Amino acid sequence: MELTSALGKLKVRKRETAQSTEGRQLAELQPNTQIVEQYKEKKVLQWFCNGCQKPCLQIREESRCICGHRLKYHNDKGKRKCKENGCPCKGFFYIVAEGSWILRCQCKHKGVDHDPNTHACKRRNCGCTKFKSPWVCNCDCPWSMHEQQEATIMVKTFSVNNDEFKEINPWQDLKRGIDHK
Ligand SMILES: [Zn+2]
Ligand SMILES: [Zn+2]
Ligand SMILES: [Zn+2]
Ligand SMILES: [Zn+2]
Ligand SMILES: [Zn+2]
Repeated sequence: MELTSALGKLKVRKRETAQSTEGRQLAELQPNTQIVEQYKEKKVLQWFCNGCQKPCLQIREESRCICGHRLKYHNDKGKRKCKENGCPCKGFFYIVAEGSWILRCQCKHKGVDHDPNTHACKRRNCGCTKFKSPWVCNCDCPWSMHEQQEATIMVKTFSVNNDEFKEINPWQDLKRGIDHK
């Protein structure tokens, strides 16, 4: 069967035997359905700490680039050039943000005040030549020890009655140390 490909574990279960929480919830909502769970590979961007040797944050589709545009408005290949009209950004550069809080440079100006390619500040008389934040991550390592990295993770997907596989709670197990103020 094609579904049992290299992509990972495949479990086919009827309603009565579905064991995962999500599977049970789906089965309760829709009786007499066949639910197939499958783990699939997904390419993502992580914000990796070179001090701790672990990813501290998952970079999401909604995450902002130094150009001010979200990851989803950038190409998903190569350096991830920005696709927004008139934006000169040639490669996505992650700016940590949480809620209404967004990372600032040590020159006190925002990411968007900097050139998206040279990362030099565009504000008059600033003199900042490269965006660098004094912010310290929850892992206790400085911002400068982190870098964005491509990674492949396994995500759980579901198919109901041979429908298209849909991802469920893709980031749940991966979010760590996120409580910046
Ligand atoms: Zn842009
Ligand atoms: Zn950009
Ligand atoms: Zn600056
Ligand atoms: Zn500045
Ligand atoms: Zn960190």
